[in-house]
Amino acid sequence: MPDYSALKHKFGPHCLFGEPAANFTTYRAGGAAEVLLKPGTPEELAWACAWCRANAAPWRVLGRGSNVLVSDRGLPGVTILTGRLAAVEVKGSALEAQAGASWDEVARLSAGAGLAGLEKTSGIPGSVGGAVRMNAGAFGQETFDRLASVLALDGEGREITLLKKDIGHGYRRAAGLDGLTVLLARFEFQPGDPAVLLQDRSCVLASREAKQPLDYPSAGSVFKRPQGDYASRLIDAAGLKGLRVGGAEVSPKHAGFIVNAGGATAADIYALICRVRGVVKEKTGVELQLEQILLGDF
Ligand SMILES: Cc1cc2nc3c(=O)[nH]c(=O)nc-3n(C[C@H](O)[C@H](O)[C@H](O)COP(=O)(O)OP(=O)(O)OC[C@H]3O[C@@H](n4cnc5c(N)ncnc54)[C@H](O)[C@@H]3O)c2cc1C
Repeated sequence: MPDYSALKHKFGPHCLFGEPAANFTTYRAGGAAEVLLKPGTPEELAWACAWCRANAAPWRVLGRGSNVLVSDRGLPGVTILTGRLAAVEVKGSALEAQAGASWDEVARLSAGAGLAGLEKTSGIPGSVGGAVRMNAGAFGQETFDRLASVLALDGEGREITLLKKDIGHGYRRAAGLDGLTVLLARFEFQPGDPAVLLQDRSCVLASREAKQPLDYPSAGSVFKRPQGDYASRLIDAAGLKGLRVGGAEVSPKHAGFIVNAGGATAADIYALICRVRGVVKEKTGVELQLEQILLGDF
């Protein structure tokens, strides 16, 4: 078992032991991270990854934890949060952002600078690293539309630059980034009218507010969109809105969301996911695929 005291020594208050997933995921549920690290520079992040490799400690990188469900049994080893690597810079018709920067900040800044193409992704509550990793998107736009390149750490800890054309990606996935840690992403844009782009952003934010259960903890859409349909439509048609397991509930406002309606465990949420999947399969024949990522033992 690795001696994690070296991490405490290096990261001080930015190294926590036994931190509950409620404090670093948007579901506000799940067990504890054995060690939670919050590096403040890319060098510290690289150092942490190298330490984990050298000490055979299990590890993973998270941004805002807005697309994950952490098991009640917790996360063994080291969980690295990128939130302190949050620099964003507009450079002419491009924008560069560190992995931990807020995605919504990227959408807001680019729109305000007259850089078109990501304004409709406003309100996605993740980080830049998470958005690139998931190819997050909404209202017909997605991260890879404007992605130019990614600076990442490979499995050996070397810094590599990947161009978009070399990163395999598709709907809500970027398999070309498997095993890589995103440090920085560069986006390139078409020119647009800032007033129009900011108006589009406002419309999208208003639509999210109107349609999504933003007053409850969740991790957004639970399932991917099945071919030619919407998961939320199928779940609603199956009569599952408001279905509960413990503190987990299929949102009565948006059937595609499972919310933590109060005191939900990860087991409640997972059991509800399985129930929804089972009923939708039985009633419609459609096998829903998870968009959210299960972390730990389920
Ligand atoms: C209310 C709500 C609304 C949402 N709406 C949308 C939406 O409209 N469209 C959409 O696509 N998603 C949506 N989501 C889901 C989520 O916000 C996105 O998937 C987001 O991109 C995840 O970013 P994150 O930083 O939270 O990633 P996390 O949940 O922290 O991590 C997700 C995955 O990315 C990996 N990862 C994170 N950072 C890095 C990094 N630096 N390098 C390598 N891998 C990394 C993690 O290991 C994990 O596998 C919504 C979520 C909520 C709660």
